[in-house]
Amino acid sequence: MRYDLAKMVGARPRKRLVLRPIEPPPALAAPLESEAAGIIGAIHTAIAEILLPAYEPRPAVTSDSVDSLGGALEGVREIGQRLAATVSGRLSRWAVRVEEWHRMRFIGAVKAGTGVDIVAFLTSQEALDQTQAAVRWASSLITNVAEDLLQTIDNRVWTAYAGGTPRRELGKQLSEDLGIARGRANRIAIDQTTKLASNLDQMRQQEAGIAKYEWRKSGKKHARKEHVARNGKEFRWDDPPADGHPGQAIFCGCRAMPVLDLD
Ligand SMILES: [Zn+2]
Repeated sequence: MRYDLAKMVGARPRKRLVLRPIEPPPALAAPLESEAAGIIGAIHTAIAEILLPAYEPRPAVTSDSVDSLGGALEGVREIGQRLAATVSGRLSRWAVRVEEWHRMRFIGAVKAGTGVDIVAFLTSQEALDQTQAAVRWASSLITNVAEDLLQTIDNRVWTAYAGGTPRRELGKQLSEDLGIARGRANRIAIDQTTKLASNLDQMRQQEAGIAKYEWRKSGKKHARKEHVARNGKEFRWDDPPADGHPGQAIFCGCRAMPVLDLD
């Protein structure tokens, strides 16, 4: 605890005060989405410009066609890997924005619920380890999407080559693979943004001496039954359920509403 919010609350008409939850909007994930889209887009361009022109299906082959196709695949791989290797440097912009947004929202929720202004207590500095960890985790997931896509492209191309698949058909298959990778990257971007926001929830609440929260279920169509059952119940930050605090399970959209005891 860095400051005791409960002690700072003046008038106490109630013993228990629940503050509003902090809901990350999908737009917060945009910088992460666009970094991933940039890598996949570059692979897309390399497929169109390097790979497909080098592809001749059997039996219309020349003796060096395997070499030139292999070389083209390596070219695509190099482009994808080069961008993926440097992605973490570009993701700090995303994490910094999420942290700033979250800090302002937390200050707003505390002000609205208690009348206390905590702006002087909060800086981006305490959140540095959280934002840096988020950048590393998101980078490794995005790199993984790029690696999987590159491996899928290899499999597609060699299968097509062996079977004599026409170039047009191979092009169609590769577009579908690109689409799947884009969808995966977008879901990762949303999920990582939610996770960072929920880790910041925990950090900011515990800094304020808030030990408990009320579980607020998400409005998602496919929300977990166990999570819906937790709605409105109280949990402690130091005693998480087996699958974690709200927003920590994969694609969980639940939130933690801070609970202040004003005894
Ligand atoms: Zn949930």
